[in-house]
Amino acid sequence: LESLDKAHLWHPFTQMQGWQRSQPLIIERAEGCYLYDLEGRRYLDGVSSLWVTTHGHRTPELDAAIRHQLDRVAHTTLLGLTHAPAIELAAKLVQLAPPGLTRVFYSDAGSTAVEVALKIAFQYWRQRPDPRPRKTKFVHLRESYHGDTVGAVSVGGIELFHEIYRPLLFEALTAPEPHCYRCPLKLERPTCGMACAEELGRVLADQADDIAAVIIEPIMMGAAGMLAQPEGYVRRVRELCTQHDVLLICDEVATGFGRTGWMFACEAEGIAPDLLCIAKGLTGGYLPLAATLATETIYAAFLGEAGDFKTFFHGHTYTGNPLACAAALANLALFEQNNTLQHVRAIANYLAEQMDRLRPLRLVGDIRQRGLMVGIELVADRATRTPFPPEQLVGYHVTNRCRDYGVLLRPLGNVIVLMPPLAVSTAQIDELIDALQTVLTEIEP
Ligand code: PMP
Repeated sequence: LESLDKAHLWHPFTQMQGWQRSQPLIIERAEGCYLYDLEGRRYLDGVSSLWVTTHGHRTPELDAAIRHQLDRVAHTTLLGLTHAPAIELAAKLVQLAPPGLTRVFYSDAGSTAVEVALKIAFQYWRQRPDPRPRKTKFVHLRESYHGDTVGAVSVGGIELFHEIYRPLLFEALTAPEPHCYRCPLKLERPTCGMACAEELGRVLADQADDIAAVIIEPIMMGAAGMLAQPEGYVRRVRELCTQHDVLLICDEVATGFGRTGWMFACEAEGIAPDLLCIAKGLTGGYLPLAATLATETIYAAFLGEAGDFKTFFHGHTYTGNPLACAAALANLALFEQNNTLQHVRAIANYLAEQMDRLRPLRLVGDIRQRGLMVGIELVADRATRTPFPPEQLVGYHVTNRCRDYGVLLRPLGNVIVLMPPLAVSTAQIDELIDALQTVLTEIEP
């Protein structure tokens, strides 16, 4: 298998972080929070198989729900047809989502949920019933990540992506990200008065007639390096969007479905966006499914005659796949049955306590946590917050060594990401932190 993998598989992000140097583990099976390789070695899935696993691998209720649906229909289109899993899931999502989000548009990946939100926002301003300006621009936070399709990259902040694909991308406006450990405005909390939000406000005030929407990852930016936002930031962004008549898109692809201790991170700030993007944890880590939720006001602007310009021209083949919808319904039922949100809050407190063991270590610069979403930033010098040079691949070396101790983690540059399944136990948190503490102590200068 190894040689066939080398010969034929084109792995995502192959050259980044030195991953090309190590042969990917061949995973044969999984159970609960663990993955097993061909030799039967066990690994704690410390990143929930890329931030998706909620109740664990091979959860009997999810397995059964998929089998049950498999005996009915595995796939049918939503173009002109419909089916119970898609309908029931849409109703459930509306019930769980922040208030006012009443329409569910299915797709199949986080990036696509973002593309859909951007296209809906763009088209909404074009065809609103009243003669307001045609707003066409988007604002994003400088370091944000919203996916790797062309539209999502356009509103993302990864410089390397922009360098390569620039001619394909549309231009977007930016605002400084709230990142208190490395404030882009070189200010300090709380005397800064959340100047980053006010900076966003200035961008909106200057070009309110042109801006269709602001897109943010609420309360914590994920792939940018787990950047936790100060309390009140998202609320202020909501206020500013309302004040300037600009739509707010919340990308909860990473933060959604209990990850932060709330079903959706927006709830932590008591706000509702106009468009909400969800994916990852939606099916509990089983099948690809995503959705963009919209308000009734937005949906109403798309009600026209069949085939006219009010049609929303988007609809992929596997949109709202019945097996994936059935998995999502079972996943959400388990949230209630297992009191998952309560568990996440308790276990997140336990994780915070255990991470206190890491704080004194010389390499540990900053620990950023929202529920079971954690970034540990490793630095060359704690006093000056000097980052390690990227070519040293410190994050990669740490996670690679953790793998030897049976714990799978993922680096984002020099930030170590901890995103265990929501069902993780205290013993498994110990296992995870033990491995990290050992490795960080081993490589301490
Ligand atoms: N938005 C956010 C906030 C994400 O974290 C991700 C994936 N890491 C995406 C969008 C893209 O999702 P996908 O990889 O499923 O396309």
